[in-house]
Amino acid sequence: CGIVAYIGHQAAYSIILKGLKRLEYRGYDSSGIALYGDQVTSFKRKGRVAELEAWTDPITQTATVGIGHTRWATHGEPSDANAHPHKSNSGKLTLVHNGIIENYASLKQELIQKGYTFESETDTEVLVNFIEEIQKNNQSSLEEAMRIALKRVVGAYVIIVIEEGFPNRLIAARKGSPLVIGVGEGEHFLASDASPIIEYTKQVIYVNDYELAIISPDEIILKNLGNEPITPYIQQLDMEL
Ligand code: GLU
Repeated sequence: CGIVAYIGHQAAYSIILKGLKRLEYRGYDSSGIALYGDQVTSFKRKGRVAELEAWTDPITQTATVGIGHTRWATHGEPSDANAHPHKSNSGKLTLVHNGIIENYASLKQELIQKGYTFESETDTEVLVNFIEEIQKNNQSSLEEAMRIALKRVVGAYVIIVIEEGFPNRLIAARKGSPLVIGVGEGEHFLASDASPIIEYTKQVIYVNDYELAIISPDEIILKNLGNEPITPYIQQLDMEL
């Protein structure tokens, strides 16, 4: 399983597709991509990453922001519906996730009582709606809602979230699963390991547990879950493709 994302000035689709193929060695049963064109559009399928090459929407294919995922099912069988990305009920948030949310069942019950519905059996769809509910309830920013949500989440994860209305920003977080940011010029790359990134940049930041990365084409802001800023440590990769 793996995660790839891009934000910048190039077409995100081909960068993400290629990146997912580089992560295929990690194993997966389904894959998917969400791209921010006029709005956030997802395409996801059970099976090989090559299935995603059937994508034909010209607007999203030229979009410069997107997130991608290869899934290794832990909650819910491999299927189109259970593949990532997952959207929140309002459609505002789109999220990819590697890992496991251990307390998803109790969070799901809470959300069902508040009227939320679910299209998949995944722990991931619970998480995206849990973040949405906190954001709605507290009238908070996505960033703040993620901090609150992640303090209540038990498990391991790397997540990347796109919010409708904010085409120039991705927010990522991790605990227990790996996340690397590739630092480019006016563009940034995110991935589970450096293999999808090294062809574009050798400058990388390894995100640590309990950190949030707020990423736009020109800026990377790292914070801990207590909202304190962290100085990013940029490393030079010495590996070759
Ligand atoms: N637990 C999530 C699921 O079953 C993510 C699995 C993964 O890491 O790919 O959908």
